[in-house]
Amino acid sequence: MSVTLQVRAPFSGWSSALAEIPDEVFARAMLGEGAAIDPTGNELRAPCDGELISVAAARHAVAVRAPCGAEILVHVGVDTVALAGEGFTLHARTGEQVKAGDLLMSFDLDLLANRARSLVSPVIVTNGERFSVARLRIDRAVASGDVLFELEPVGVVDASSRTAALAAISESVIVRHAHGIHARPAALIARLAKTLPELEIRAHGRTADPRSTMALMSLGVRGGDELIIVGFSAEAARSVAEIAALIRGLEPGAPAPRAAAVPTVPNPSPANPRRPRGIVASRGFAVGRAQLLDDEPEVEERGRGVAAESAALELARNSVRKRLEERARNADGLVRELMAAHIELLDDPQLLETARRGLLAGASAGFAWRASLAESAQALAATGDERLRERAADLTDLTRQVLRALAGEGAESAAIAPGSILIARDLTPSRLIDDATRLGGIALMASGPTSHVAILAATLGVPMLVGVGEALRAVVPGTEVILDAEAGTLAVAPDAVELAAARARSADERTQAARAAGQAQQPCRLASGERIEVFANLAGSAADTRFAVAQGAEGCGLLRTEFLFLDRRTAPDEAEQRRCYQDISDALGARPLVIRTLDVGGDKPIPYLPLPPEENPALGLRGVRTSLWRPELLDVQLRALLAVRPAVRILLPMITDSAEIALVGRRLDEWCRAAGVARPQLGAMIETPAAAMLADQIARAVDFVSIGSNDLAQYGLAMDRGHAELAARIDGLHPAVLRLIAATTRGAAVHDRPVAVCGGLASDPQAVPLLLGLGVTELSVVPSFIPRLKALIRGLRLEDCRALARRALDLATAAEVRALVQEEMP
Ligand code: PEP
Ligand code: MG
Repeated sequence: MSVTLQVRAPFSGWSSALAEIPDEVFARAMLGEGAAIDPTGNELRAPCDGELISVAAARHAVAVRAPCGAEILVHVGVDTVALAGEGFTLHARTGEQVKAGDLLMSFDLDLLANRARSLVSPVIVTNGERFSVARLRIDRAVASGDVLFELEPVGVVDASSRTAALAAISESVIVRHAHGIHARPAALIARLAKTLPELEIRAHGRTADPRSTMALMSLGVRGGDELIIVGFSAEAARSVAEIAALIRGLEPGAPAPRAAAVPTVPNPSPANPRRPRGIVASRGFAVGRAQLLDDEPEVEERGRGVAAESAALELARNSVRKRLEERARNADGLVRELMAAHIELLDDPQLLETARRGLLAGASAGFAWRASLAESAQALAATGDERLRERAADLTDLTRQVLRALAGEGAESAAIAPGSILIARDLTPSRLIDDATRLGGIALMASGPTSHVAILAATLGVPMLVGVGEALRAVVPGTEVILDAEAGTLAVAPDAVELAAARARSADERTQAARAAGQAQQPCRLASGERIEVFANLAGSAADTRFAVAQGAEGCGLLRTEFLFLDRRTAPDEAEQRRCYQDISDALGARPLVIRTLDVGGDKPIPYLPLPPEENPALGLRGVRTSLWRPELLDVQLRALLAVRPAVRILLPMITDSAEIALVGRRLDEWCRAAGVARPQLGAMIETPAAAMLADQIARAVDFVSIGSNDLAQYGLAMDRGHAELAARIDGLHPAVLRLIAATTRGAAVHDRPVAVCGGLASDPQAVPLLLGLGVTELSVVPSFIPRLKALIRGLRLEDCRALARRALDLATAAEVRALVQEEMP
């Protein structure tokens, strides 16, 4: 048995188990394992050789770091911080090298006996995740310098043997994921690493603990960089290989956020200072008093002692975790994903370790937590990687949540007056979730249309402009402002006439929204009588489905099944898939359910399906191509889909031509025969220009087609849908995209097949008359848009839509198309 360190009694006295200490934090070993001593001597001597790494401000506690890395804390008595240093005399300074038995401090035993809650003193190892305590000498008298307990490594060897083992068990991997190790890959690696013995990941001459998402992100690894995974024993070879395989599996990297299509308008300059422009992240219009968002609450720098502050931090983290878990349970895919990422960070070993050091140095819980997260946020910012900078926003968010929990819940939300327009540099997703129902709208100086908070605002239906810039500083708190998140402007000092008009518009829109909600459950027809089906896009739970039905969804036009496959180590089996699809079907009642087969590749890597290296992942194995490349996954999914009752409609993503449909069709027929069921309706997504041009052939091979306008615009315009610089230009109303849509409806009409649109364009009010005019008869949209969409459709006449579409097809740019719609159908 290898012993790393003998920890010696720092003073003479009676040794006992930690449980004897009348303080829950120590007694329950929240700060670390070890032993307690009720001192009879009044001198505290070093429990081991090492560096004196901290002396509490109130001089009542010291910590020594041994050469093996173990950190030993000796805390004299309980609640002795309250003595503010009285009765303690230091004989050593932070940073000094000490030998076991060196005198570090003396204390007035009588004074402590009279004034402290208890003299029983913990001697503990505070980085216990790396060491285990063995051979405790407790329930006996100990002399200063006696061995009190021993430490053994937990799957760790010392630095020298690490170096020796390195050659045998290190593996180098080139990261091919275009964005390197950003949040999602880091979280995947951390999750796997937590199940394995201790490893290290090295890059750019730095080392990270792979169990820490933060540490991994801070390495600043980009696509093309080399990583070395290191294990420290011969047995670690398998673990090293597992991590390497996972990293190799993070192949593709199209950066698009796929959760929601965020409509944007350009941000042209020069700006009018009274009406600054921003990028529309969430459509809408609102008038309200400007509320400037203060930054996080003040925190005291000095704490009330390690024990009290640690307990406070623990409590605050627990309460934040509980809230995050609750929100995750009740939320839809995107919010849930975000909450999971925050929970991961809340328990991140690196963040906790840095905070713990702060506590040991005498900081308050809030101060230590904030400093720890700020340090990591800085490290992320220093990588210069835009995506990692965005993850720094998650850290700011988590800082605020924990500080808020430390200060007592609720105070902050109460401060937001209903209907306010929130003005801030940036906004954290959790703050938006908390205040969404109270907010009239949001204008941010920073942030982009693909940030988490932008996508959330669109999902929650809160109008929002982002990237407005410094002009927002001119806003006077409490004054009325007009947020036009249709046109992309914020009127910061509107005159009385403007305000009156805006209030009238806003009231009118509210009335319309209420009317629309009241009629949302009615089936939907154009004013000219033609039936248009309004479906919901879903990406997850039965709860989301029920929400969609409540909004008036007549069915689900696109269930993105990826949610079931991502962020896990093995694919869901047939039974799990069947249960999940059946739950959604049950929540829909008898309404139609269109389920898309797995659409992975691009920006959605799955670790158990490592794709070969690709120069251009967006043009590589994606959608049905991936399914045909690894048909065993497809087969399981097809069998699960065939078992759902009533029968679902199956939709194939990223179709290029009818040959792909024939290949899937043969497999489907085989499984239908095996299950003794009829072939269900089969549909093709039209997302590539090729599919649009061959729409007649594709339509012959299927029962319906559905246009994925997000990808059709990406591939049609050759603009990456996640590219921040191009965000304002990748517009599905570009005449080129409209012509592809027109080709699709023409081709489908040859075989009398219905055409749906399930991409973000269907949720854009300006696009709706054009799509209907081009022959689309089903729109599948974000659930919150359904009432408004139905109301909009009911006000349109098909012949007007057709005339409008004809004119739009002859225009040159998306801006011209938008101007036409604005003019003809304001
Ligand atoms: C689309 O591309 O428009 C679409 C609906 O699919 P996704 O956004 O999931 O790629
Ligand atoms: Mg798509």
